[in-house]
Amino acid sequence: MEFIDLGAQQRRIRDRLDARLAAVLDAGKYIMGPEVAEFERELASFCGARHALGCANGTDALQLALMALGAKAGDAVFCPSFTFASTAEIVPMTGATPVFVDVTPASFNMDAESLKRAIVYARSLGLRPAGVIPVDLFGLPADYDAISDIARESGMWIVADSAQGFGATYRGRITGSIGDIATTSFFPAKPLGCYGDGGAVFTGNDELRALMESYRVHGKGSHKYDNERIGINSRLDTLQAAILLEKLAIYADEIDARQRVAARYTTALHNVIQTPEVPDDCRSVWAQYTLTCSAGQDRAAVLASLSAASVPTAVYYPRPLHQQTAYRDFPCDPQGLAHSETLALNVFSLPMHPYLSESDQDRVIDAVRAAVTV
Ligand SMILES: *Cc1c(COP(=O)(O)O)cnc(C)c1O
Repeated sequence: MEFIDLGAQQRRIRDRLDARLAAVLDAGKYIMGPEVAEFERELASFCGARHALGCANGTDALQLALMALGAKAGDAVFCPSFTFASTAEIVPMTGATPVFVDVTPASFNMDAESLKRAIVYARSLGLRPAGVIPVDLFGLPADYDAISDIARESGMWIVADSAQGFGATYRGRITGSIGDIATTSFFPAKPLGCYGDGGAVFTGNDELRALMESYRVHGKGSHKYDNERIGINSRLDTLQAAILLEKLAIYADEIDARQRVAARYTTALHNVIQTPEVPDDCRSVWAQYTLTCSAGQDRAAVLASLSAASVPTAVYYPRPLHQQTAYRDFPCDPQGLAHSETLALNVFSLPMHPYLSESDQDRVIDAVRAAVTV
Protein backbone atom coordinates (compact mmCIF):
# COMPACT_ATOMS: atom_id res chain seq x y z
CA MET A 1 0.00 0.00 0.00
CA GLU A 2 1.29 3.47 -0.84
CA PHE A 3 0.69 6.67 1.13
CA ILE A 4 -0.26 8.45 -2.11
CA ASP A 5 -0.56 6.20 -5.17
CA LEU A 6 0.04 8.20 -8.34
CA GLY A 7 0.40 5.02 -10.40
CA ALA A 8 -3.28 4.10 -10.25
CA GLN A 9 -4.27 7.50 -11.59
CA GLN A 10 -1.68 7.29 -14.34
CA ARG A 11 -2.96 3.90 -15.48
CA ARG A 12 -6.44 5.41 -15.78
CA ILE A 13 -5.38 8.24 -18.12
CA ARG A 14 -2.09 6.98 -19.59
CA ASP A 15 -3.34 6.90 -23.21
CA ARG A 16 -4.61 10.47 -23.03
CA LEU A 17 -1.40 11.64 -21.34
CA ASP A 18 0.69 9.99 -24.06
CA ALA A 19 -1.35 11.73 -26.76
CA ARG A 20 -1.06 15.11 -25.02
CA LEU A 21 2.69 14.76 -24.53
CA ALA A 22 3.18 13.66 -28.13
CA ALA A 23 1.28 16.75 -29.31
CA VAL A 24 3.63 19.01 -27.31
CA LEU A 25 6.72 17.21 -28.64
CA ASP A 26 5.40 17.51 -32.20
CA ALA A 27 4.66 21.23 -31.85
CA GLY A 28 7.89 22.00 -29.96
CA LYS A 29 6.50 25.02 -28.03
CA TYR A 30 7.96 24.10 -24.65
CA ILE A 31 7.55 27.53 -23.06
CA MET A 32 4.08 29.13 -23.05
CA GLY A 33 2.73 26.78 -25.69
CA PRO A 34 -1.01 26.75 -26.39
CA GLU A 35 -1.66 24.11 -23.68
CA VAL A 36 -0.75 26.68 -21.02
CA ALA A 37 -3.51 29.13 -22.01
CA GLU A 38 -5.94 26.25 -22.53
CA PHE A 39 -5.21 24.91 -19.06
CA GLU A 40 -5.49 28.38 -17.50
CA ARG A 41 -8.98 28.77 -19.01
CA GLU A 42 -10.09 25.32 -17.78
CA LEU A 43 -8.61 25.91 -14.33
CA ALA A 44 -10.36 29.27 -13.90
CA SER A 45 -13.65 27.80 -15.03
CA PHE A 46 -13.31 24.81 -12.67
CA CYS A 47 -13.35 27.07 -9.61
CA GLY A 48 -15.26 30.06 -10.95
CA ALA A 49 -12.33 32.48 -10.83
CA ARG A 50 -12.16 35.27 -13.41
CA HIS A 51 -8.45 34.72 -14.08
CA ALA A 52 -5.96 31.89 -13.57
CA LEU A 53 -2.28 32.10 -14.48
CA GLY A 54 0.16 29.22 -14.38
CA CYS A 55 3.55 29.63 -12.72
CA ALA A 56 6.53 27.50 -11.77
CA ASN A 57 5.41 26.24 -8.34
CA GLY A 58 3.15 27.02 -5.39
CA THR A 59 5.82 29.01 -3.57
CA ASP A 60 6.31 31.32 -6.55
CA ALA A 61 2.53 31.65 -6.78
CA LEU A 62 2.52 33.13 -3.28
CA GLN A 63 5.47 35.35 -4.13
CA LEU A 64 3.79 36.65 -7.30
CA ALA A 65 0.67 37.40 -5.26
CA LEU A 66 2.57 39.41 -2.65
CA MET A 67 4.56 41.26 -5.32
CA ALA A 68 1.34 42.24 -7.11
CA LEU A 69 -0.24 43.40 -3.86
CA GLY A 70 2.82 45.51 -3.11
CA ALA A 71 3.86 43.92 0.20
CA LYS A 72 6.86 45.85 1.53
CA ALA A 73 9.03 46.70 4.55
CA GLY A 74 6.94 47.80 7.52
CA ASP A 75 3.99 45.61 6.49
CA ALA A 76 2.73 42.83 8.76
CA VAL A 77 1.45 39.75 6.90
CA PHE A 78 -0.42 37.27 9.10
CA CYS A 79 0.19 33.55 8.53
CA PRO A 80 -0.75 30.43 10.45
CA SER A 81 2.23 28.77 12.14
CA PHE A 82 0.94 25.24 11.55
CA THR A 83 1.60 25.04 7.81
CA PHE A 84 4.26 24.29 5.23
CA ALA A 85 7.16 26.78 5.20
CA SER A 86 6.21 28.35 1.84
CA THR A 87 3.27 30.21 3.38
CA ALA A 88 5.57 32.40 5.47
CA GLU A 89 8.77 32.07 3.44
CA ILE A 90 7.79 34.52 0.73
CA VAL A 91 6.84 37.29 3.19
CA PRO A 92 10.38 38.38 4.19
CA MET A 93 11.36 38.10 0.49
CA THR A 94 9.21 41.20 -0.09
CA GLY A 95 10.64 43.00 2.96
CA ALA A 96 7.40 42.52 4.93
CA THR A 97 7.24 40.78 8.33
CA PRO A 98 5.37 37.51 8.84
CA VAL A 99 3.33 37.51 12.05
CA PHE A 100 2.29 34.06 13.24
CA VAL A 101 -1.26 33.21 14.19
CA ASP A 102 -2.58 30.07 15.90
CA VAL A 103 -4.96 27.51 14.39
CA THR A 104 -8.03 25.81 15.81
CA PRO A 105 -7.57 22.12 16.65
CA ALA A 106 -10.90 21.23 14.99
CA SER A 107 -10.03 22.68 11.57
CA PHE A 108 -6.20 22.85 11.66
CA ASN A 109 -6.79 26.28 10.06
CA MET A 110 -6.27 29.90 11.10
CA ASP A 111 -8.05 30.94 14.30
CA ALA A 112 -9.85 34.26 13.78
CA GLU A 113 -9.53 35.21 17.49
CA SER A 114 -5.79 34.65 17.39
CA LEU A 115 -5.62 36.77 14.22
CA LYS A 116 -7.32 39.67 16.04
CA ARG A 117 -4.78 39.52 18.87
CA ALA A 118 -1.88 39.33 16.43
CA ILE A 119 -3.11 42.44 14.57
CA VAL A 120 -3.22 44.48 17.78
CA TYR A 121 0.25 43.23 18.67
CA ALA A 122 1.70 43.97 15.22
CA ARG A 123 0.44 47.57 15.46
CA SER A 124 2.09 47.92 18.87
CA LEU A 125 5.38 46.97 17.21
CA GLY A 126 4.94 49.76 14.66
CA LEU A 127 3.99 47.43 11.79
CA ARG A 128 1.15 48.20 9.39
CA PRO A 129 -1.32 45.29 9.06
CA ALA A 130 -1.26 44.70 5.28
CA GLY A 131 -2.52 41.22 4.55
CA VAL A 132 -3.52 37.74 5.69
CA ILE A 133 -2.54 34.40 4.18
CA PRO A 134 -5.06 31.79 5.34
CA VAL A 135 -4.17 28.22 4.38
CA ASP A 136 -6.60 25.45 3.38
CA LEU A 137 -4.63 22.95 5.40
CA PHE A 138 -5.03 19.27 4.52
CA GLY A 139 -7.64 20.30 1.92
CA LEU A 140 -10.21 21.99 4.18
CA PRO A 141 -11.00 25.66 3.37
CA ALA A 142 -10.03 28.21 6.00
CA ASP A 143 -12.88 30.17 7.64
CA TYR A 144 -12.87 32.86 4.96
CA ASP A 145 -15.98 34.74 6.14
CA ALA A 146 -14.61 35.30 9.63
CA ILE A 147 -11.16 36.20 8.29
CA SER A 148 -12.58 38.53 5.60
CA ASP A 149 -14.55 40.49 8.19
CA ILE A 150 -11.37 41.08 10.18
CA ALA A 151 -9.31 41.85 7.07
CA ARG A 152 -11.88 44.36 5.79
CA GLU A 153 -11.93 46.23 9.12
CA SER A 154 -8.16 46.67 8.96
CA GLY A 155 -7.97 47.33 5.23
CA MET A 156 -6.01 44.14 4.60
CA TRP A 157 -5.88 41.96 1.51
CA ILE A 158 -6.31 38.18 1.58
CA VAL A 159 -4.10 35.73 -0.28
CA ALA A 160 -5.63 32.26 0.02
CA ASP A 161 -2.94 29.56 0.08
CA SER A 162 -4.91 26.73 -1.53
CA ALA A 163 -1.87 24.60 -2.34
CA GLN A 164 -3.57 21.72 -0.51
CA GLY A 165 -7.15 22.82 -0.98
CA PHE A 166 -7.74 23.72 -4.61
CA GLY A 167 -11.27 22.69 -5.61
CA ALA A 168 -12.65 22.43 -2.07
CA THR A 169 -16.01 24.00 -1.23
CA TYR A 170 -16.61 26.82 1.25
CA ARG A 171 -20.25 27.87 1.69
CA GLY A 172 -21.10 27.37 -1.97
CA ARG A 173 -17.85 28.79 -3.34
CA ILE A 174 -14.91 26.83 -4.71
CA THR A 175 -11.41 27.57 -3.43
CA GLY A 176 -9.37 29.31 -6.07
CA SER A 177 -12.18 31.84 -6.43
CA ILE A 178 -11.83 33.06 -2.81
CA GLY A 179 -9.55 35.89 -1.67
CA ASP A 180 -8.08 38.90 -3.49
CA ILE A 181 -5.67 36.34 -4.89
CA ALA A 182 -5.68 32.57 -4.40
CA THR A 183 -2.69 30.36 -5.08
CA THR A 184 -2.16 26.66 -5.60
CA SER A 185 0.60 24.13 -6.19
CA PHE A 186 0.78 21.25 -8.66
CA PHE A 187 3.56 19.44 -6.78
CA PRO A 188 2.92 15.76 -7.64
CA ALA A 189 1.53 14.81 -4.22
CA LYS A 190 -1.02 17.65 -4.02
CA PRO A 191 -4.66 16.76 -4.79
CA LEU A 192 -4.22 18.22 -8.31
CA GLY A 193 -0.58 17.52 -9.15
CA CYS A 194 1.57 17.42 -12.27
CA TYR A 195 4.76 15.42 -12.98
CA GLY A 196 7.22 18.00 -11.71
CA ASP A 197 6.85 21.47 -10.25
CA GLY A 198 3.96 23.75 -11.13
CA GLY A 199 1.60 26.29 -9.60
CA ALA A 200 -1.07 28.85 -10.33
CA VAL A 201 -2.47 32.17 -9.13
CA PHE A 202 -6.14 33.17 -9.35
CA THR A 203 -7.83 36.55 -9.09
CA GLY A 204 -11.03 38.35 -9.95
CA ASN A 205 -9.12 41.63 -10.33
CA ASP A 206 -7.93 42.60 -13.84
CA GLU A 207 -5.19 44.88 -12.53
CA LEU A 208 -3.73 42.21 -10.21
CA ARG A 209 -3.86 39.72 -13.06
CA ALA A 210 -1.91 42.09 -15.32
CA LEU A 211 0.71 42.66 -12.62
CA MET A 212 1.21 38.93 -11.96
CA GLU A 213 1.41 38.22 -15.68
CA SER A 214 4.19 40.80 -15.90
CA TYR A 215 6.03 39.69 -12.74
CA ARG A 216 6.14 36.04 -13.84
CA VAL A 217 8.12 37.01 -16.99
CA HIS A 218 10.81 39.37 -15.65
CA GLY A 219 8.42 42.29 -15.14
CA LYS A 220 7.71 42.51 -18.83
CA GLY A 221 5.75 45.37 -20.36
CA SER A 222 4.36 45.16 -23.87
CA HIS A 223 6.95 42.53 -24.85
CA LYS A 224 9.63 40.41 -23.23
CA TYR A 225 12.51 42.83 -23.85
CA ASP A 226 10.55 45.71 -22.34
CA ASN A 227 11.14 45.52 -18.57
CA GLU A 228 8.69 47.72 -16.68
CA ARG A 229 9.37 46.34 -13.21
CA ILE A 230 11.67 43.91 -11.40
CA GLY A 231 10.14 40.48 -11.85
CA ILE A 232 11.03 36.81 -11.63
CA ASN A 233 11.04 33.88 -14.06
CA SER A 234 8.12 31.68 -13.11
CA ARG A 235 6.18 30.00 -15.90
CA LEU A 236 4.28 26.72 -16.02
CA ASP A 237 5.95 24.40 -18.56
CA THR A 238 3.87 23.46 -21.61
CA LEU A 239 4.47 19.76 -20.85
CA GLN A 240 3.11 20.17 -17.33
CA ALA A 241 0.09 22.10 -18.61
CA ALA A 242 -0.61 19.26 -21.06
CA ILE A 243 -0.48 16.72 -18.22
CA LEU A 244 -2.65 18.91 -16.00
CA LEU A 245 -5.34 19.24 -18.68
CA GLU A 246 -5.92 15.49 -18.50
CA LYS A 247 -5.68 15.41 -14.71
CA LEU A 248 -8.14 18.30 -14.33
CA ALA A 249 -10.63 16.44 -16.55
CA ILE A 250 -10.97 13.71 -13.89
CA TYR A 251 -10.42 15.91 -10.83
CA ALA A 252 -14.10 16.37 -9.89
CA ASP A 253 -14.55 12.60 -9.98
CA GLU A 254 -11.42 12.15 -7.86
CA ILE A 255 -12.65 14.67 -5.29
CA ASP A 256 -15.82 12.55 -4.96
CA ALA A 257 -13.72 9.40 -4.51
CA ARG A 258 -11.71 11.12 -1.77
CA GLN A 259 -14.99 11.86 0.09
CA ARG A 260 -15.80 8.15 0.10
CA VAL A 261 -12.40 7.19 1.57
CA ALA A 262 -12.58 9.92 4.22
CA ALA A 263 -16.16 9.03 5.18
CA ARG A 264 -15.22 5.38 5.65
CA TYR A 265 -12.21 6.27 7.78
CA THR A 266 -14.27 8.62 9.94
CA THR A 267 -17.12 6.18 10.45
CA ALA A 268 -14.73 3.43 11.52
CA LEU A 269 -12.35 5.52 13.64
CA HIS A 270 -14.20 8.41 15.27
CA ASN A 271 -14.93 6.47 18.43
CA VAL A 272 -11.28 5.51 19.04
CA ILE A 273 -9.32 8.63 18.03
CA GLN A 274 -9.90 12.31 17.12
CA THR A 275 -10.90 12.30 13.44
CA PRO A 276 -10.92 15.41 11.21
CA GLU A 277 -14.04 17.60 11.34
CA VAL A 278 -15.56 19.20 8.25
CA PRO A 279 -18.23 21.88 8.79
CA ASP A 280 -21.61 21.13 7.12
CA ASP A 281 -21.21 23.93 4.60
CA CYS A 282 -17.71 22.88 3.49
CA ARG A 283 -16.19 20.06 1.49
CA SER A 284 -12.53 19.13 1.86
CA VAL A 285 -10.44 17.77 -1.00
CA TRP A 286 -8.58 15.65 1.58
CA ALA A 287 -5.00 16.44 0.65
CA GLN A 288 -4.37 14.61 3.92
CA TYR A 289 -6.57 12.60 6.25
CA THR A 290 -5.15 13.63 9.61
CA LEU A 291 -5.82 12.12 13.02
CA THR A 292 -4.95 13.71 16.36
CA CYS A 293 -3.78 11.65 19.34
CA SER A 294 -5.42 12.63 22.62
CA ALA A 295 -3.90 12.59 26.09
CA GLY A 296 -2.96 8.97 26.78
CA GLN A 297 -2.39 8.15 23.11
CA ASP A 298 1.35 8.18 22.44
CA ARG A 299 1.92 9.15 18.81
CA ALA A 300 5.34 7.51 18.58
CA ALA A 301 3.88 4.20 19.78
CA VAL A 302 0.90 4.47 17.43
CA LEU A 303 3.19 5.19 14.45
CA ALA A 304 5.47 2.30 15.39
CA SER A 305 2.50 -0.04 15.55
CA LEU A 306 1.22 1.14 12.14
CA SER A 307 4.67 0.77 10.65
CA ALA A 308 4.89 -2.80 12.00
CA ALA A 309 1.56 -3.47 10.24
CA SER A 310 3.05 -2.03 6.99
CA VAL A 311 0.65 0.91 6.97
CA PRO A 312 2.46 4.02 5.71
CA THR A 313 1.91 7.24 7.68
CA ALA A 314 3.34 10.76 7.67
CA VAL A 315 3.52 13.63 10.14
CA TYR A 316 2.49 17.04 8.78
CA TYR A 317 3.96 19.05 10.45
CA PRO A 318 6.34 17.96 13.20
CA ARG A 319 7.31 21.53 14.15
CA PRO A 320 5.28 24.73 13.72
CA LEU A 321 6.98 27.55 11.85
CA HIS A 322 7.33 29.89 14.83
CA GLN A 323 9.58 27.26 16.46
CA GLN A 324 11.78 26.81 13.39
CA THR A 325 15.27 28.33 13.38
CA ALA A 326 14.53 30.50 10.36
CA TYR A 327 11.28 31.93 11.76
CA ARG A 328 11.57 32.01 15.53
CA ASP A 329 12.45 35.71 15.72
CA PHE A 330 9.28 36.90 13.96
CA PRO A 331 6.30 38.11 16.01
CA CYS A 332 3.46 35.82 17.12
CA ASP A 333 0.03 36.15 18.71
CA PRO A 334 1.06 37.45 22.18
CA GLN A 335 -1.04 34.74 23.87
CA GLY A 336 1.16 32.10 22.26
CA LEU A 337 0.41 29.42 19.69
CA ALA A 338 -0.54 26.55 21.97
CA HIS A 339 -2.72 24.70 19.45
CA SER A 340 -0.02 24.75 16.77
CA GLU A 341 2.50 23.40 19.26
CA THR A 342 0.20 20.65 20.57
CA LEU A 343 -0.93 19.55 17.10
CA ALA A 344 2.67 19.26 15.91
CA LEU A 345 3.25 16.68 18.65
CA ASN A 346 0.03 14.73 18.17
CA VAL A 347 -1.08 14.60 14.52
CA PHE A 348 -0.39 11.97 11.90
CA SER A 349 -1.86 11.29 8.48
CA LEU A 350 -3.17 8.10 6.90
CA PRO A 351 -2.85 6.87 3.31
CA MET A 352 -5.27 8.97 1.23
CA HIS A 353 -5.84 9.05 -2.50
CA PRO A 354 -8.83 8.52 -4.81
CA TYR A 355 -7.79 4.99 -5.80
CA LEU A 356 -7.33 3.50 -2.31
CA SER A 357 -9.21 0.19 -2.42
CA GLU A 358 -11.77 -0.73 0.23
CA SER A 359 -9.60 -3.66 1.29
CA ASP A 360 -6.62 -1.33 1.83
CA GLN A 361 -8.87 1.10 3.70
CA ASP A 362 -9.95 -1.77 5.94
CA ARG A 363 -6.34 -2.74 6.59
CA VAL A 364 -5.59 0.85 7.61
CA ILE A 365 -8.68 1.01 9.81
CA ASP A 366 -7.91 -2.29 11.56
CA ALA A 367 -4.30 -1.25 12.13
CA VAL A 368 -5.27 2.13 13.60
CA ARG A 369 -7.89 0.57 15.87
CA ALA A 370 -5.35 -1.98 17.08
CA ALA A 371 -2.67 0.70 17.57
CA VAL A 372 -4.79 3.05 19.69
CA THR A 373 -6.58 0.48 21.81
CA VAL A 374 -3.54 -1.41 23.12
C1 LIG B 1 2.99 22.57 -1.11
C2 LIG B 1 2.62 23.83 -0.45
C3 LIG B 1 3.09 25.08 -0.91
C4 LIG B 1 4.15 25.24 -1.95
O1 LIG B 1 4.03 24.57 -3.10
P1 LIG B 1 5.33 24.21 -4.01
O2 LIG B 1 4.71 23.94 -5.33
O3 LIG B 1 5.96 23.01 -3.38
O4 LIG B 1 6.22 25.39 -4.04
C5 LIG B 1 2.62 26.22 -0.29
N1 LIG B 1 1.75 26.16 0.73
C6 LIG B 1 1.29 24.99 1.21
C7 LIG B 1 0.32 25.01 2.33
C8 LIG B 1 1.72 23.79 0.66
O5 LIG B 1 1.27 22.63 1.16
